[in-house]
Parts: sequence; C-alpha cells; structure tokens
Amino acid sequence: MSIASQLSYIRSSLPEGVTLVAVSKTHPSAAVREAYDAGQRIFGESRPQELKAKYEELPKDIEWHMIGHLQTNKVKYIAPFVALVHSADSARLLETIDREARKCGRVIDCLLEIHVAAEETKSGWAYDELKEYLRSGALSALSAVRIRGVMGIATNTDDESVVRRDFERLVECKRELSAFFGDDFDILSMGMSDDYPLAVECGADMVRIGSKIFGARDYNIVG
Ligand SMILES: *Cc1c(COP(=O)(O)O)cnc(C)c1O
Repeated sequence: MSIASQLSYIRSSLPEGVTLVAVSKTHPSAAVREAYDAGQRIFGESRPQELKAKYEELPKDIEWHMIGHLQTNKVKYIAPFVALVHSADSARLLETIDREARKCGRVIDCLLEIHVAAEETKSGWAYDELKEYLRSGALSALSAVRIRGVMGIATNTDDESVVRRDFERLVECKRELSAFFGDDFDILSMGMSDDYPLAVECGADMVRIGSKIFGARDYNIVG
C-alpha cells in the first residue's frame, strides 16, 4: 500500500473534527513529501535535530508537532517553528520552552502529557504532581507557553479493556483540567496506529499515526 492510499484510508475512517498527525520520525523527507503531496500538512516527529532538518528541507506550510520526550537542552532546535509540543511533562521543560519561545518572539502551544500507561518507562506527568504544579500558580509566569490540552499514551497491550481504561482516564483528566484552563484548552491527543479507533471512540480529537501510514520504522537508519 502506498503512503497516499494509507492516508486516504485513515482519513476516511476518522470522524470529522479529529486531527490526524502523521508521525514521520525515522522516515526520510521523501516519505514526508509523498504524504504532503497527498494533502497531509501536519507531521509529528520525536527527535529535535531530525525535526529541524526536515523543517529546513520541506515546504514551509507544514505544521510540525513534537510528540516524543523532549530534553530541555534540545528545545532550542525547534522553538523557532514548532507548532505544538505534545510532550510537555515537567515544570523544567515548560520553563525552558517558555524561555526559548521568548527568544524567538513566539508563544508555543503545548499539551500536558499525562502518564496513564501501566509501563513505568513511559514519560508524562503523574496526575497528582501535575495538579500540585498547577495549584502552585507557577504556570502563570510562563506567558510564552499556551497550554492547549492533554496528551497520553495507552499501555502497550492487546487487552482492549486496559487500553480503554487508559483512554478514559485521559478523557477524565482533560475534563477536570478544563475548568482550570478554559476555552483554549481544547485538544485531546491520544491514539496511535494500533489503538486509534478505540481512542477516537473514547473521545480523542487528535491522533498520532506513524507506522500505519509510513510502514515499519528502522531506528538504525537514523541512528
Ligand atoms: C512513534 C509515536 C507515535 C506513532 O506510533 P505508531 O505506532 O507508529 O503509529 C505516536 N505517538 C508517540 C508519542 C510516538 O512516539
């Protein structure tokens, strides 16, 4: 199946109002270009240098999303152009994004990544710690960061009931946090190649799909 036909299949299966982020990490710019030519404009990457290189090489009307764990010392690579950081998961990272955004004269949209999966290794805020941080008021000093919603990754399992429980938890977190943030807080990013239909059923309005569009990833190519 070509990239274009995979994209059109996925698009036709998504309800109106659900945004598709095509996750192009580890795939060459030529693959991004193929998706671009098929009409896709939003792409997600997880490595800052790779993201920057693709940004420089590809058309400027692409909206680039940072979806993977972001180290503070790498924010500078993407701050000038990134459209949405899905993976804001610590106070230090938010402070760094704010500082780098100011340097560029920008306000950077971010999602709060919340840890819901059973795996220990997955990144994201522990929800209690996030609420404590929000109560502290520290976020109000970060005027170059705009919090747009919540992102999460479900447990990697074939057990649908576990995945559903994770998605429902994210829906609940977003609903609860909406009271704190108000109108701009309107994005729920959840669902990947293997679980996006369930994520959409549970209420996702942004899905991040990679291998189902671009095929399997070979991490060794990019190193
Ligand atoms: C890689 C990645 C995806 C896409 O994964 P696929 O299974 O290839 O669709 C989605 N979200 C995040 C955070 C990722 O790192």
